Amino acid sequence: MNSLQILPCEKERMLNNYDNTVVERFIRYVQIDTQSDPHSGLHPSSIKQKNLSALLKEELQMIGISDVETDEFGYVYGTIPATTSKKMPVLCFCSHIDTAPDCSGTNVKPILHKDYNGSSIILPDDEMQVLNVDNYPYLKEHIGNDIITASGKTLLGADDKAGVAIIMDFANYLITHPEIKHGIIKILFTPDEEIGEGTAKIDLKKLGADFAYTLDGGKLGTIEDETFSADGVTVTIFGIIAHPGDAKGKMINAIKIASEIIAKLPKEYLSPESTQKREGFIHPLQIEGLAEKATIQFLIRDFDTKQLAVHEKLLEEIINDVIGQFKNASYTFIVQEQYRNMKEILDDFPFVIGYAEEAFQQIGLPFIKEPIRGGTDGSRLSFMGLPCANIFTGMQAIHSKHEWIGVRDMKLAVEALVMLTNVWEENY
Ligand SMILES: [Zn+2]
Repeated sequence: MNSLQILPCEKERMLNNYDNTVVERFIRYVQIDTQSDPHSGLHPSSIKQKNLSALLKEELQMIGISDVETDEFGYVYGTIPATTSKKMPVLCFCSHIDTAPDCSGTNVKPILHKDYNGSSIILPDDEMQVLNVDNYPYLKEHIGNDIITASGKTLLGADDKAGVAIIMDFANYLITHPEIKHGIIKILFTPDEEIGEGTAKIDLKKLGADFAYTLDGGKLGTIEDETFSADGVTVTIFGIIAHPGDAKGKMINAIKIASEIIAKLPKEYLSPESTQKREGFIHPLQIEGLAEKATIQFLIRDFDTKQLAVHEKLLEEIINDVIGQFKNASYTFIVQEQYRNMKEILDDFPFVIGYAEEAFQQIGLPFIKEPIRGGTDGSRLSFMGLPCANIFTGMQAIHSKHEWIGVRDMKLAVEALVMLTNVWEENY
């Protein structure tokens, strides 16, 4: 990608005369702690997420969106009325309000670095935290523009408050520019995406959308229409317990069996540490146990759903191999479907990506189609009947204290959404 040449500041931009609100919104939203909690079992998983829901409702009303509502789970729904008389599908733009449990989201202090000059950035609250063009080459593209970082003790929360701020500014733009022709647009903010529960309590009937885009992607110009297909496998190993002082010939230690299984997993291939791009893997996520019984949780991932069964077969062969050496040991092997590659759905609606490509082109953005090595709300939404692709926001180094974002990318994402709604109106 060489967007430096494509996107000089002096270029006449579509939103040049628009007083953008994306930066001030972003800075406001990231200071609200919305970390989700994988252990609470509640919806929302942490009640504090509703603080942001309430603020977004208020701000959407201020923008002029009259039907906005939040529910007990923390979802926010709103409608931007159509400006065209053409009958066309209802589009939804969606992002998640929670931040990842991996890194603290309390007392986030966003720092706006004006006119970034390319030098190292030492985060003031922890001088060990340094961002530079060596660890983040994408910073080079932002020299001369503003970037935003956290202060060293927390994540920034660009994932996904960048998406939230972009959608809010986009709504503000459309409401203040009724000359832009578009169909009905639904706005949706979801809680708990980071713990895989973002769609758990979603009301698709209330939403009433036909196609959706999540704003939850990275680099400028990327669009993602493909996620992993994912299964979870739970392996439980049953050993035989005996008093350790009197165990000879009797004890079969499930911990040792589990360790041997782990040791026999492929290392140079089929593991997260040794794969990239379109390669799948078998990943031992969690292990717990006693001598009598041990459990291993595995993640099985591939872009090709059929390959999941192949990886699972290999895993079971390894287990059988090991177990075979321990007389009277036994195991169970339980496969659970987690999510599927959204491309299986999106391939039936090629215009979802096609219109985005045209919109990006019209405003001079690169168009980079990438598979996501993970899942998104979009993959779940697609299989729930709402075909959904994922658009860039600019967020980088997510879920970490190094998390940062370029202001240019957020502004261009707003512009891309405006153009995208217009392309739908013109072409559908
Ligand atoms: Zn996200």
